[in-house]
Amino acid sequence: MNWFDTHCHVAGEAFDADRAEVLARAWQAGLAGLLAVGSDGASSRAAQALAAAQPRVWAAAGVHPHQAAAAEGEIGEIEAVLDLPRVVAVGEIGLDYHYDFAPRAVQLRVLERQLDLAARRRLPVILHVREAEEDLFRVLAGARLPAGGVWHCFTGTREAAERALEVGLHLGFGGILTFRGADGVRAVAAWAPLDRILLETDAPYLAPVPWRGRRNEPAFVAETGRRLAELRGLAPEELARATTANAARLFRLTLPAGEPAEGGAS
Ligand SMILES: [Zn+2]
Ligand SMILES: [Zn+2]
Repeated sequence: MNWFDTHCHVAGEAFDADRAEVLARAWQAGLAGLLAVGSDGASSRAAQALAAAQPRVWAAAGVHPHQAAAAEGEIGEIEAVLDLPRVVAVGEIGLDYHYDFAPRAVQLRVLERQLDLAARRRLPVILHVREAEEDLFRVLAGARLPAGGVWHCFTGTREAAERALEVGLHLGFGGILTFRGADGVRAVAAWAPLDRILLETDAPYLAPVPWRGRRNEPAFVAETGRRLAELRGLAPEELARATTANAARLFRLTLPAGEPAEGGAS
């Protein structure tokens, strides 16, 4: 198997006690690699440090909308991390009007500044969007996305998905796809073009069934992948190959040669 977790917080403190074991389980579950994302200056630094030490880990650097007020002053630090090896995207960045942890005007400004960073460096973006679709599309209409990006943890409508695809975004699907009440998400995930979907965990959050409510980890991306393969009428191997190729293309990754070890959860 050849899965890729395009979004996890595996450099964060939730994994400080057992990160080596968590990564070992990921490789055992058949992951070809994973992308560790940042939420502020320190977590972006940590993601990059992990990626520099692990051949199958890559990193993204960005200020999350939740941190937009607290960490706006860290955008310079994000720029510094973007200059380091194995940092392949700006993220996660975006708008979260569900929690509104930062004033919306600040969220918008921090998003626009980081979209500009990504455009100037021709890097893809990893977007976190919650209850803020109209503002997102308004901002994107005035921005350049020369290297595209992904709307991570996509749970929007088909119409929102169509608009996202039109502006060059991929759709990232995670554990919610396996939740009982998520028929709408499953319908979009079954319909979306195969070359525009990515798999993710968002670990430690949003563990798929049967681990729902527990700490999520990258190995569990295989479970979400199997569910999506079933929804699309594909063999898990086919879906893994396609979504991993999508990740490699979007983030311009050179995956290590050779198949990762089979076994574990696969
Ligand atoms: Zn997010
Ligand atoms: Zn996240």
